[in-house]
Amino acid sequence: MKSGYHIKNLAVYYGSKPALAISEAHIEKGEMLAIIGPNGSGKSTFLAAIAGLLPAAEEAVSFDERPLKELTLAERAKELAYLPPADETDPNFTALETVLIAQTAGAHFAFAGREEIENGKKALALLSAAELADRPIGTLSSGEKQRVAIARVLARKCPLLILDEPTNYLDPLYQHLLLGHLKELTAGGEQTVIAAIHDLPLASRYFERFFLFNHGELIAILTRDELLESPLPATCFKLPADMLFAK
Ligand code: ADP
Ligand code: MG
Repeated sequence: MKSGYHIKNLAVYYGSKPALAISEAHIEKGEMLAIIGPNGSGKSTFLAAIAGLLPAAEEAVSFDERPLKELTLAERAKELAYLPPADETDPNFTALETVLIAQTAGAHFAFAGREEIENGKKALALLSAAELADRPIGTLSSGEKQRVAIARVLARKCPLLILDEPTNYLDPLYQHLLLGHLKELTAGGEQTVIAAIHDLPLASRYFERFFLFNHGELIAILTRDELLESPLPATCFKLPADMLFAK
């Protein structure tokens, strides 16, 4: 059996508008994969498909050769954690409560046990957000909110982490802290990270492979070296490479 996450003949439409078409792609377990491409190129659609949020993915995406449609909701919740592009949690919940809601897979945070609370606190601490634990989400800055949203995903300790632009709003310190931590998680081979990211110099320091999207198509799969040498990123982003990769 081939392990990992496989995509075959995935076609997503919004109404009659094609948003994404992929004939075949494979994601190995334990890799740290960056999803790159211009605005509107299909990155978020791709991540939502892998997260099992789009009907078109039910047959086209498989986990360890099992199509998504064969996975129960409980199996999906155990396998993957997804960071949406913009978090829409209740602004009245505190940071810790927000982390705990996700951990109990939709159940009310009041039912979180001691272990979940410890996990939640550890995840917040990892993002230097321990001191935010009791603050209502609605009172946090965008960067603080983003760190709580990430802590919520990490606290679940799922094998697959699907992160839609996780470095958004983070200052440089937290960008490096987060990507360094994700690299550690994948280094053990137990966890896989798939993340959309726009900062190519930053991404090229941490990610091993790059899926480059343009106009709803996966146009190139690149290693770090290929990313820096290929003419394709410059073509897709319509910017010369020295500006794309400017330090
Ligand atoms: P990216 O994340 O790369 O910026 P998306 O995957 O969000 O791109 O979007 C791909 C394309 O699909 C874009 O043209 C976008 O406008 C369109 N799109 C995304 N979501 C919807 C939706 N819910 N309804 C209609 N069009 C959508
Ligand atoms: Mg997006």
